[in-house]
Amino acid sequence: MNTQVTGVIVVGAGGAGLTLATELALAGTPAVVLDRLPGRNLQSRAGAIQPRTAELLALRGLLDEALGRSIDYRLVGGHFAGLPVPLDYAAWDTRYPHPVLLPQDQLEAVLEERLAELGGRVLREHALTGLRQDADGVTITMTTPDGDRSLRGRFLVACDGAHSSVRKTVGAAFPGQAATVRMATADLVLTGQVDDSSAGHISSRIHTSPEGHFAMITPLANGLHKLIFSGPRTASAERDAPVTAEEVREVLRATHGGALDVSEIRYASRFSDASRQLEHYRHGRVFFAGDSAHIHSPAGGQGLNLGVQDAFNLGWKLAAILRGEAAEELLDSYQTERHPVAARVLALTRAQGVVMGPQRDGGLGELRDVLTDLLRLPEANRYMAGVMSGLDLRLPSPDAADHPLLGLRMPDLDLLTGDGGQVRFSDLTRGGRGVLIDLAEAPLAAADPWNDRLVRVRARVEKGAVDAEAVLVRPDGYVCWAGGAGLTATLTRWFGPAGAAATGTAGESR
Ligand SMILES: Cc1cc2nc3c(=O)[nH]c(=O)nc-3n(C[C@H](O)[C@H](O)[C@H](O)COP(=O)(O)OP(=O)(O)OC[C@H]3O[C@@H](n4cnc5c(N)ncnc54)[C@H](O)[C@@H]3O)c2cc1C
Repeated sequence: MNTQVTGVIVVGAGGAGLTLATELALAGTPAVVLDRLPGRNLQSRAGAIQPRTAELLALRGLLDEALGRSIDYRLVGGHFAGLPVPLDYAAWDTRYPHPVLLPQDQLEAVLEERLAELGGRVLREHALTGLRQDADGVTITMTTPDGDRSLRGRFLVACDGAHSSVRKTVGAAFPGQAATVRMATADLVLTGQVDDSSAGHISSRIHTSPEGHFAMITPLANGLHKLIFSGPRTASAERDAPVTAEEVREVLRATHGGALDVSEIRYASRFSDASRQLEHYRHGRVFFAGDSAHIHSPAGGQGLNLGVQDAFNLGWKLAAILRGEAAEELLDSYQTERHPVAARVLALTRAQGVVMGPQRDGGLGELRDVLTDLLRLPEANRYMAGVMSGLDLRLPSPDAADHPLLGLRMPDLDLLTGDGGQVRFSDLTRGGRGVLIDLAEAPLAAADPWNDRLVRVRARVEKGAVDAEAVLVRPDGYVCWAGGAGLTATLTRWFGPAGAAATGTAGESR
């Protein structure tokens, strides 16, 4: 059997895999992305992206296309556990202070189109069936429309979702909590009085019944709506049982008193609140990103965002290694930086599951009231808005340096360039490279040996916006140096030693 050779094998073309594939393609890294399905999954599934994901898409020039495909309905702020207090994302100084109602299939379409523009494509109907690794790489077997094939890469990234076959093949434990609640989601055509006024808080779209029914309805395109629901019948349904119109009707009757009915179910699936996370995101030369690394209930709309952000974190690091610039230790930071983020999301979704649950006894109603009051306090609201939007993330600093911007996302500032022009920070990051912004009179000569890996700009910012002589930003938009000592060490850590040869890894057959 011929074994095709590449740099990175990406297994799975959902949000995580497609993000990773576009990042690798942008960096010119040889990579192959495969998916067992014949085409994109057209069920909407995740309904919204959070502000930090919107910012990351803006960094790559993808946000306008995504906004063009989003639903024309503005969610007022974020939410915690569906409580009726909007989380004010504007408190985190972002250009995108609202969740964007972008159905998951539309985000995947945006990413796959960008991948194609960059010369990549998804190998459809290619399903991983086996995997072995050695000191230099990973070889997989896969079924394809043309029979069984094998593929070898220096690294493999498992983006193959909650039931990851890579995870099972490498024998990685997936510890956590088993499901306690079973729910379902459907893209459907509703009849009756559907309230689609063009703005509102998500809590106004949640309806419950005393018998334990839950229904959340949000608009989709083309006259469809997305219903996320549960109830006694759904709770006891088998995982693979089809979602029936009668099951949906029962929930609508209980939660909307007969005002709504369903005339067509276009897509539907079941899910649970099972909550699990890999201890290690790296197993030898195999990495895990997205739902293959962590699963949890969709409460709060975090899962797809986590996967996309995992991929943004890992992509440029793998590319730097495959280009021969950085050493493999760079990859250790993937675990250090991303594992705690998902661990916190898991904890928060479990908490939300309890608060959102149908029970009203045992003090739960009172707990909801207490939390609602707390979220009305500006400090508490800001804290929770930062967590739920992903905007509060501060990466751990690997050395003792201490600047208020270190580890934080670089704000998307307007930079005033010497020639009287103006450029937005996110205009500098389209190519996926690091950015060094010189804010002092003289540019930092110490960084010159890394000029081939950086976008450099001399600029001024509005008074008080950044208190530093210069700011170094990683390709994923996080500040890794902001003046003071240690510039050379920081450049070496994140971008590799100066003058390191770019080797590349060409795809070939043997
Ligand atoms: C009702 C609901 C609402 C949600 N709402 C939100 C929300 O608002 N916001 C949010 O961020 N998240 C939300 N989520 C979660 C979100 O859908 C997932 O977190 C997201 O799909 C994970 O993306 P992924 O790329 O990791 O995996 P997936 O999207 O599952 O993609 C995995 C891919 O791998 C492929 N694959 C699997 N096995 C193989 C194999 N052996 N070989 C080749 N290919 C393979 C699959 O075909 C699939 O295309 C919601 C989920 C549900 C169920």
